Amino acid sequence: MNKNDLIVITGAGGFIGGALTRYFHDQGFTHIRAVDKKPLPQWYQRVPGVESLSLDVSYRDNCTRVCEGAVEVYNLAADMGGMGFIEKYRIECLRSILINTHMLEAAYWAGGQRYFFSSSACAYNVELQQDPDVRALKESDAYPAMPERGYGWEKLVSEIFCQEYAAERGMKTFIARFHNVYGPHGTWDGGREKAPAALSRKAIEAKESGDPGITIWGDGHQTRSFMYIDDCVKGIDLITHYDELVATPINLGSNVLVSINDLVSLIEEIGEVTLERAYDLDAPKGVAGRNSDNTFIKQVLNWEPETTLKAGMEKTYAWIEQQYADRQAGKPTVS
Ligand code: NAD
Repeated sequence: MNKNDLIVITGAGGFIGGALTRYFHDQGFTHIRAVDKKPLPQWYQRVPGVESLSLDVSYRDNCTRVCEGAVEVYNLAADMGGMGFIEKYRIECLRSILINTHMLEAAYWAGGQRYFFSSSACAYNVELQQDPDVRALKESDAYPAMPERGYGWEKLVSEIFCQEYAAERGMKTFIARFHNVYGPHGTWDGGREKAPAALSRKAIEAKESGDPGITIWGDGHQTRSFMYIDDCVKGIDLITHYDELVATPINLGSNVLVSINDLVSLIEEIGEVTLERAYDLDAPKGVAGRNSDNTFIKQVLNWEPETTLKAGMEKTYAWIEQQYADRQAGKPTVS
């Protein structure tokens, strides 16, 4: 790719889109168009020298405008959040189908050479995720299809759209199924945050207030793997520039399985705090266990996410602690 080619990134006011914008900017790309429906002051990151547009890409005309002249398009926009959000707001999650539908068509007519779609591990069959001691999910486990209601079905259908644009129209589309991504500059409060950020915030609150009580959603035995944001953006770049992966969904996630209780213990260690755990068994908790099988990504890219959970959580915790202090001081924050 030429460093002057136009890269379009949607969802750029959010967590992963913001990090991807910074990543390409730091790689020396001079022509980046960042797009998000949020007003600019609410973007999690604003990268200097990047064209930043506040536009809703669930509308066709906006997508046409956004994709004009694009050589590569990265669609990271979606109405999403942690389990608390996706179990409650299925309609909003399903409506994200409009985003990918219009973005694909606009990217195609703009002559875009590569199109990246951010799918999710929620596209996998939930029946394979009933046990905390889960077998890691490999790419073929999405079918027979029984994904997460709402959010997961939207991802699966959008994947199919990407595959058909490759099959019928010869467009180079790339699909990564992210497994929980965490890191600085992500949502940490307000209802859309995911477990690593939510638990870090609760630990910081406990520390600040002197009340060591912390409520954990579910029984704490549910298991997940967590990928640090730097690995996520590097993986997106590698996947989108590997032609054998056209229209081929691939896992992008860590394969180190931890329970939520283990994650809380790690946060206690990082925050130097001892918490008193209470369990809310009625709270949204998602599937019992979920892990990424990285056989395929290692085989094709000779790479997999490599940041340890401890190293990534140390940076994430420190960032949330600073955000918390900023908010207490009346300064603007991400959440
Ligand atoms: P995020 O909520 O931080 O960012 C998404 C951004 O998209 C938000 O800033 C939002 O304002 C924007 N957006 C939503 N609807 C829009 C619209 N109609 N027009 C323009 N912008 C719109 O979420 P994220 O964690 O950065 O997720 C990015 C992508 O990765 C999403 O597709 C998500 O489903 C996927 N994903 C994320 C994770 C994770 O752990 N974070 C896991 C699996 C998949």
